[in-house]
Amino acid sequence: ISILENPESTAVSADQALLAVVGADLQAPLIQGGQRRYVNLDYAASAPAVSAVADYLQEILPYYASVHRGAGFASQISTSVYENARNIVRDFVGGRPDDAVIFTRNTTDALNLLARCLPEPGSVGGGDVLYLDIEHHANLLPWQALPHRSVLAADSIAETIAVLESEFAAGPVALLAVTGASNVTGEILPIAELAALAHRHGARIVVDAAQLAPHRRIDLAGSGVDYLAFSGHKLYAPFGSGVLIGRPDWLDSGLPNLFGGGAVREVRLDSVSWADGPARHEGGTPNVLGAATLAHAAEVLAGLDQTDWQQHEESLRSALVSALEAIPGVQVHRLFRDSADYPGSGSIGVVNFSIEGYDAGLAAAFLSAEFAVGVRDGRFCAHPLLRRLGLPSGSLRASFGVGSRLEDVQRLADGVRQLVETGP
Ligand code: PLP
Repeated sequence: ISILENPESTAVSADQALLAVVGADLQAPLIQGGQRRYVNLDYAASAPAVSAVADYLQEILPYYASVHRGAGFASQISTSVYENARNIVRDFVGGRPDDAVIFTRNTTDALNLLARCLPEPGSVGGGDVLYLDIEHHANLLPWQALPHRSVLAADSIAETIAVLESEFAAGPVALLAVTGASNVTGEILPIAELAALAHRHGARIVVDAAQLAPHRRIDLAGSGVDYLAFSGHKLYAPFGSGVLIGRPDWLDSGLPNLFGGGAVREVRLDSVSWADGPARHEGGTPNVLGAATLAHAAEVLAGLDQTDWQQHEESLRSALVSALEAIPGVQVHRLFRDSADYPGSGSIGVVNFSIEGYDAGLAAAFLSAEFAVGVRDGRFCAHPLLRRLGLPSGSLRASFGVGSRLEDVQRLADGVRQLVETGP
């Protein structure tokens, strides 16, 4: 039962899920009639939709029409749902009133969009893009194509900030591009401190919040972050929608993300005057249902008690880490030795590990076939980081969220223990 249906009772233990997610069997006991229910521990790739979002999708389906284009009833409703979704998203991340909220396909699309809007090198605000080697490719490749400097993260957050400080001093920087939480290890970066650092050096900051937004409340205005990107499918909504939110000036002067209808003010046969605001980057018919469900998921998450939300994940995480670390030959991977106590850091519900003597892909296949647990294996679209961690052929990642329960992570630990003790 969603706690939203019973807002009085927000206290939940790790035995309960915080919110119901789609998949009725997830409510079933772990083993029933000799059958195991599937345990999804791959939320970081794509999280299951929370039931409230699925219900909302059914509710708005009858009003499904193209936006901004018609005087008809359905089009008007769709337009207002779509435009209101921007306000909901802005509120969800604590955006400034004048921040542009642009709907994209996903985080990758949002970061590529921003990359097209950076000031020219040598112009006001121009300079290199700085990024760390811990980034997901989505927050690395768009910058690699521009004047950039890649920076090796140190093994503590404190030292990493010192390394960044010296990079800022070495020459003009337009943008610091940083992840809010690592998709590999789940560790959170202190984004407010990094924003202050960037601003001290006249630069801006973009936070890749693909992993952070589904796990922590973000205060865009309060933290001073200039741009934020995230995806609907990791935020308990369906696939196909994402967001870029942030300061409008660069976005209004950059090239449109997609050339086409809707992105223009006036078109002549050989010239065009592009629109300002979100429309500039939303050429073509937008994904109304994607934006609306993303916004609804944001509303559902905003209704959670922040302390419950965090405690729920932390208790699952620490139970899993302790269980895994107690198994001989299992190593849990971390980036920073100070992430547990560095102000503004911590970890989301992502645990990365490897099992000595076992290929990650084979171990994941065993866990799926024998224990019905779905984890991710591989290099997590973060090749430079995995290489540096000494894991060139990959590792395993368990990730969970509002629909997860203690028995889910226990099942994973049981599977790993059996693999190590008795073999596949
Ligand atoms: N950034 C991070 C930290 C991610 O974890 C992911 C997806 O795994 C992305 C960016 C890319 O997200 P999408 O595939 O939705 O564009």
